[in-house]
Amino acid sequence: MQPLKYLGGYPPQVQAQVRELIAQDRLGALLAAKYRDAHAVRKDGQLYAYVQALKERHMRKAPPLGKVLYDGRLQVLKHALGTHTTISRVQGARLRASREIRIASVFRDAPADFLKMIVVHELAHMKEAEHNKAFYQLCTHMAPDYHQLEFDLRLYLTGLELRPPGAREPAP
Ligand SMILES: [Zn+2]
Repeated sequence: MQPLKYLGGYPPQVQAQVRELIAQDRLGALLAAKYRDAHAVRKDGQLYAYVQALKERHMRKAPPLGKVLYDGRLQVLKHALGTHTTISRVQGARLRASREIRIASVFRDAPADFLKMIVVHELAHMKEAEHNKAFYQLCTHMAPDYHQLEFDLRLYLTGLELRPPGAREPAP
């Protein structure tokens, strides 16, 4: 059985439920029903404005943003979300040093709430390098439903990766 890499930190019964949804080809539809809104943040300039607006609203005192861009080579799990147990110090140091925010390009086509979630995550890293309590407090300050969003994002990414053979491509 292929491991559910985005859900590695979750209990086996949760993972089993997710596998069941995938096997029945229902996960995509469930998420699509819950997250209906798309976003129009297509280009790097638009992404910069989007990140800047959130920063102005919630993290005014943090140092100014550097570059903000979509990155097609970024692996979400390794570079953006991390896992529940391992923490990327390197990423934190890099972000602090350059104040650069890279968003994996899978978010360009993801629902609006998931883009917000990952931007909130990366903004929080401007202040907290590690995924610690202070980090998650910042995240929930910016997005009160942050934890639910992160879990659902993990489901979404799992679904993208593990569509059953012959499943339809998601609607554009
Ligand atoms: Zn992180």
